[in-house]
Amino acid sequence: MEEATSTYQEALTADAARYLADRGIGPDEAATFRLGVVADPLPEHERYRNMIAIPYLGHQGQPLTIRFRCIEDHDHRAFGHGKYNTIPGDVPRMYGVDSIHAASDEIHLTEGEFDRLILRKIGWHAVCVPGAEMWFPRHRRMLAGFSRVWTWTDPDAAGAKLRTAICRDLRSARPVRLRLDVTDTYLTGGAQALYDAKEAAA
Ligand SMILES: [Zn+2]
Repeated sequence: MEEATSTYQEALTADAARYLADRGIGPDEAATFRLGVVADPLPEHERYRNMIAIPYLGHQGQPLTIRFRCIEDHDHRAFGHGKYNTIPGDVPRMYGVDSIHAASDEIHLTEGEFDRLILRKIGWHAVCVPGAEMWFPRHRRMLAGFSRVWTWTDPDAAGAKLRTAICRDLRSARPVRLRLDVTDTYLTGGAQALYDAKEAAA
């Protein structure tokens, strides 16, 4: 995983950098979180060619796995992959577990990797589940030590279902209501819009 992560990180293209910048993720975040592009895939990653590589870093910064985001504007299924792609056989993980070690009393939980990066960017420790269907009981155990888990799900039916599941499993969960998702809230209102949303949920 280290070899793949560094190879892809070195290959971050201008297109991918622009894609990330359009989502509020600048060069500093891309470097810190080791985002990259699968320009020259390892043999087992051929199917992820040209996708953005999102390494899942452990608490010592070591890559545990990688998820891949296709940034082509096409019907992904017609090309035999999804918008987001997990390595087959990989166990579903939370993204950003280094934050679990670094955070003290409170932590933030998002739906999706890029939303998590936005919350990291504005100074909060955060983890994410990589999709609305990706909340599992073992994640509850990982977050059990926090007195407050600020929960940022997308403002749609799938997000509402995820929020319900998290709040059922974690008494410390405190949902933050948004009209847009985390990234779009940030893009339209800046960090202050997210600080205000959290304040309103407190
Ligand atoms: Zn695609």
